[in-house]
Amino acid sequence: MAKVSFIGLGIMGSGMVGNLVKAGHEVTVWNRSSSKYPEVEKIGAKTVSDPAQLLPGADFLMYCLSDDAAVDAVILNGTSLATKVEPGTVVIDLSTIDPVTSAAERKVYEERGIEFLDAPVFGTKGEARDGGLWIVIGGDEKTYEKALPVLEPISETLHYMGVGGNGTKMKLVGNLLVASQIVSIGEALSLAKKAGLNLTKVLEVAAVADFKTPIYAGVGAGVIKGDYEVNFPLKLMLKDAKLIQAFAARLNSPVTIAVTTEELAAEGVAAGMGDLNASAIVKVISNRAGVDLNESTR
Ligand code: NAP
Repeated sequence: MAKVSFIGLGIMGSGMVGNLVKAGHEVTVWNRSSSKYPEVEKIGAKTVSDPAQLLPGADFLMYCLSDDAAVDAVILNGTSLATKVEPGTVVIDLSTIDPVTSAAERKVYEERGIEFLDAPVFGTKGEARDGGLWIVIGGDEKTYEKALPVLEPISETLHYMGVGGNGTKMKLVGNLLVASQIVSIGEALSLAKKAGLNLTKVLEVAAVADFKTPIYAGVGAGVIKGDYEVNFPLKLMLKDAKLIQAFAARLNSPVTIAVTTEELAAEGVAAGMGDLNASAIVKVISNRAGVDLNESTR
């Protein structure tokens, strides 16, 4: 079993840590706020008060942080942890970040001969908790194979995408598809409501027809109950909409859906919905349409 050091006990990181412990790894964790420590200590992970304490003797250093600023603060310019990782440790970044930041990390590691994978994840709170994430990985293939003992316990499927950076790029491509589905179910349900259709019946059709998706089913079931409990926070969806646009602009490729998503998510965050689920985009759309999609009280 491996010595695994892990940074980030957010919605996603907490679930990953649970499954790494369950797989028998010796897991040590650092998180910015220690309020989440009792929960992981209860399941057998060790905790430390300084991220530098994670480095000695680690086989793997894994982190799942919210955004580029967090990776910069913890790994790059802030604490410069990346420059202190011991030779022999394999580093895996599971965060959704700009490919530019990912490349900056890779440079620091590779200059010192440290193996690094960019390995962002698809799936949300439930998949993280259940070890059922879908992970997209960029980096050296031998490093990927070396990392299987820590990637397999947290995932349902692993997708080796090729050279370093390709995991992060695939994640943004995938999140463009996620964004398009959240926006389209929001517009469709608002239109259906205005047209006097029964939304439960609308979702029954959406669940079987040739346009069915798990996102239409999951988001749809939530919004007609008025349930916006957080799995993937709206504020992170806003971050991703911006990342997709920056990524696409560098490649001169149109991403009109990301533009729309940013506008809607920014409106929701400004209205105080940033910590609700990303499905709050549907609420922004239905508010604009002047309809209430919550049918649970009727
Ligand atoms: P989250 O619950 O907001 O957790 C974010 C983590 O980053 C926390 O551990 C937080 O520490 C830490 N953090 C943020 N800023 C920091 C800073 N400046 N210094 C140190 N630590 C910092 O986010 P999440 O939902 O777990 O998402 C983590 C990553 O996975 C993101 O890149 C997200 O886009 C991606 N992702 C999320 C989902 C999802 O459904 N939630 C799905 C796929 C991918 P504190 O606890 O101290 O705040």
